[in-house]
Amino acid sequence: MSRDAHERAGRLIDRMHIEGLAGSERQWLDAHLESCGACAERARLTAEALASLRTVAVPVNPAIVGMAKARARMRAAELRQRDERRRPLWIACVFSWVMMLLTTPYFWSAFEWMGQAMRLPAPVWQAGFLLWWSLPATVAAIALLWVEWRGRLFNGRGEGAGWLEG
Ligand SMILES: [Zn+2]
Repeated sequence: MSRDAHERAGRLIDRMHIEGLAGSERQWLDAHLESCGACAERARLTAEALASLRTVAVPVNPAIVGMAKARARMRAAELRQRDERRRPLWIACVFSWVMMLLTTPYFWSAFEWMGQAMRLPAPVWQAGFLLWWSLPATVAAIALLWVEWRGRLFNGRGEGAGWLEG
């Protein structure tokens, strides 16, 4: 067997562990290892060394740490984005609640005046006032609750803890 063949086998053994081998290379290497004790021994030692290295190195593997950091950053950005998407709804809700409080006296007078002009019994125009008055704020509150509830449901489906594995 030529020296080149053993050298090639050595290169392939190293590459196998780093990036994997194409099918034909793998076949060639397997055939060589079967017929060459020295290279087979080298392959065994390499695999053994890598295996023991891996058990020690994995927890501090910088690539994995970097990946986890990138994921954490992505997740943080995702959460920020979701809050930002929710912000217009909050503003609309607060606005509608403030408007409700500010306009109450005026609309109460307006409904009272209309009720009297139309000769409606007081409970009728008062009910109308209540309905009209509370509608925007109620709709806003329901929309907000819906968004919050949906967000929580989504989290419950593993979005919260699943980001590390996925
Ligand atoms: Zn060999």
